[in-house]
Amino acid sequence: MAYPGSDIRERIHRLTEHLAADRRSVQVMEICGTHTMAIARAGLRSLLPEALRLVSGPGCPVCVTDSSYLDQAVALASGACGAKPIVATYGDMVRVPGREGSLAEARARGAEVEVVYSAEQAVELAAARPDRQVVFLAVGFETTAPGTALAIQRAQREGVRNFSVLAAHKRVLPAMRALLSAGDVRIDGFLCPGHVSVILGFAAYEPIVREFARPCVVAGFEAGQVLAGLAAILEQLAQNRPAAASVYPPVSADGNATARRLMEEVFTVTDARWRALGVIPDSGLELREALVEFDAAKRFDLPQVASYELPGCRCGDVLRGSLEPADCPLFAGRCTPRDPVGPCMVSSEGACAASYKYERQAVRGGRRVER
Ligand code: SF4
Repeated sequence: MAYPGSDIRERIHRLTEHLAADRRSVQVMEICGTHTMAIARAGLRSLLPEALRLVSGPGCPVCVTDSSYLDQAVALASGACGAKPIVATYGDMVRVPGREGSLAEARARGAEVEVVYSAEQAVELAAARPDRQVVFLAVGFETTAPGTALAIQRAQREGVRNFSVLAAHKRVLPAMRALLSAGDVRIDGFLCPGHVSVILGFAAYEPIVREFARPCVVAGFEAGQVLAGLAAILEQLAQNRPAAASVYPPVSADGNATARRLMEEVFTVTDARWRALGVIPDSGLELREALVEFDAAKRFDLPQVASYELPGCRCGDVLRGSLEPADCPLFAGRCTPRDPVGPCMVSSEGACAASYKYERQAVRGGRRVER
């Protein structure tokens, strides 16, 4: 990560000082796990003025996946749903603890759980194992949903009928709206996700700007790019002219229409349950009726399981931006990346994992990281 120049830092300090004269502090939420990790890795909080606080939102795809989904995946892998399919998943999902343990523990008990790097790879696995059902755990935001859509279309085209997906893709914009409507945490502006916005385009945030008058600025992942995004947010606030904008060159106003069309061909918008945030209207994607044969939720007799909080874990508060990871009583004691209690410590994009890996020394040294 390139070290940011002093000009932009001076601009941020000057703008924050100006804004802090009217309000106690400026609070910006990043809603992208890659930003969360990049900010912690570069130690950006130590470069920012005290009155500018960064809070992490629900931007980590594994962390926002509801506990009930994970429990269903463990039940599937364990053969509790009338069949014992191979469960194919991104690596971070494997270690997330559930009520009946994690997928890794199910694997230790004899379940077949395969780590894949894409949905396409799961289709290839199914094609190579025609004797077995293969279920892909389709999680993530608009970044990964087009890949899942492409994989389903390929399975249909190539007649890979033993492939299906357990769909839990999420949409970012309804979550932003839900956070602002709830008002639990003050959010003066959003640092919008780079990867999701490549698909959506930055103009997609205009309804949020119109409805809530908050700056929505897309930034890249280098330290200088994140600071440029923060400076743009502060400038909008200082001029009282909130807008949807991008300081990340790959993101256009319109995004990637082909990827969005692909999603629309395969999915319809539906209400979805988020870990700790509950059901958010129109925040999920489910398979279209015409593709029901690839829907694992219809193909298998899944148990109806209720959502629950992992005992002692405060991931919900962390995902809402109302708690710093270090303020969770289990942080760095009972809960570590080696022995995680909640998904925010498991995922490579989780706020607790980022804080543990890069900011723990500052916390332990008695100098609290401002969020
Ligand atoms: S530190 Fe661990 S227990 Fe606490 S909120 Fe984070 S993941 Fe959950």
